[in-house]
Amino acid sequence: MQVPASSAPRRRISSTQARRNWRSGVRRQPVIFLFPDSQDQVDPSYDFDRESSSLDRVRQRDDRYAHEVIVPAPYDGVLLSKALVDGRGSKYTLAQRHRLYRLGVRRFFRLDQLEGPLLTTMGDCGAFTYVREEKPPYSPEDVLEFYAECDFDYGISVDHVILDYQSEPADVVRPLRPPNPEWAKRQKLTLEYAGEFLRLHRVRQPRFQPLGVAQGWSPRSYAHAVEVLQKIGYSHIALGGMVPLKTPEILSCLRAISDVTYPETHFHLLGVTRTKRVLEFRKYGVTSFDSTSPFRQAFMDDTDNYYTADRSYVAIRVMQIDSNHRLKQRVLAGQLNQNKGRSLEAKCLQTLGAYDRHEVELETPLRALRRYATFLGEEDRTDEYRRTLEDRPWRACGCAICRDAGIQVAIFRGTERNKRRGFHNLHVFNQRLHRELTVVS
Ligand SMILES: [Zn+2]
Repeated sequence: MQVPASSAPRRRISSTQARRNWRSGVRRQPVIFLFPDSQDQVDPSYDFDRESSSLDRVRQRDDRYAHEVIVPAPYDGVLLSKALVDGRGSKYTLAQRHRLYRLGVRRFFRLDQLEGPLLTTMGDCGAFTYVREEKPPYSPEDVLEFYAECDFDYGISVDHVILDYQSEPADVVRPLRPPNPEWAKRQKLTLEYAGEFLRLHRVRQPRFQPLGVAQGWSPRSYAHAVEVLQKIGYSHIALGGMVPLKTPEILSCLRAISDVTYPETHFHLLGVTRTKRVLEFRKYGVTSFDSTSPFRQAFMDDTDNYYTADRSYVAIRVMQIDSNHRLKQRVLAGQLNQNKGRSLEAKCLQTLGAYDRHEVELETPLRALRRYATFLGEEDRTDEYRRTLEDRPWRACGCAICRDAGIQVAIFRGTERNKRRGFHNLHVFNQRLHRELTVVS
């Protein structure tokens, strides 16, 4: 399967021509953003004052995905991993899995009920979930069946991620012989699977568009994988394993790949978010990517929790003394007075609400937050909180989440608030992306 670079057959397009093409703007397709599903939904009936859901709430029926809350949807499509549906540590219940197969991916996510542009659906294997295993747990046939049964628009072939990266000069001296033979083995396996996947696709002819995956450990090895996939017959190729790479490394790979790219090849960047570079990516033929980071930063990041068009704000932490595991332990160990904690916590929420209604000055919630932080032994973040509260960014945002939830969207506390902030971030991210894409075009 491996073709040494020196003896590779003549390229269909010379590197100078390819570069001229993207420089002159031949590559001007739209770039679409897919959001990987992890069954993240919010409960529209949630009451922030009582901090509880409506009694007759039925999760499956009433909870809403980001694309149902924010109109138009804050992304162009949904990416669903097979591993998430039926792999180890799956997020799907048996009932959900059955419903997905029965209804198909479009109806399962209620995409058929949306107004506005049609959302795309893409399936992949979730290769990071089995990255430590010797072989992927699925065969090309397994995933082909999964995509066909769920009726996806796009389906990505089975791949095995190479976690290491090697830049020049080693890449130039020994382009396809990595220091660790395991890397080459994973690439070879991924390419073989891609060949089998496409063969099966041609025989059975399901509706979805197949994508082969290029895995590599360096610019030249990625280019090699792309070359092989194009020869097999792929016009859509996903670039895998680039999540941990720095932006200049990704660009080096894209440059090396552009030397062998056919003009009709489309690339999908798996798990890569760099809106600032999206125009550059597009020049190299990238027409889609997926990422969870705008959503996850809402509650995983230390500082960039709430996005706006030009910056990010820290969300106001108000920990739940009764449901935070660590705090409960400290209460049980007699290190924290639970009643005092409860009253300080309630004071934070109450003064934040009053501040949002212009009933109290900014210093009032800041004082309450400082007291609660001191009580818990947490760091004092008054200066950061002051910026968030002073600017009241949720007032300037037009998304449905901010309109309905007000200041609650900026409070770091519990899944209903945190996921709402994640949805808002997706909306802002999507707007940033479109802004970047329209600047130069
Ligand atoms: Zn918003």
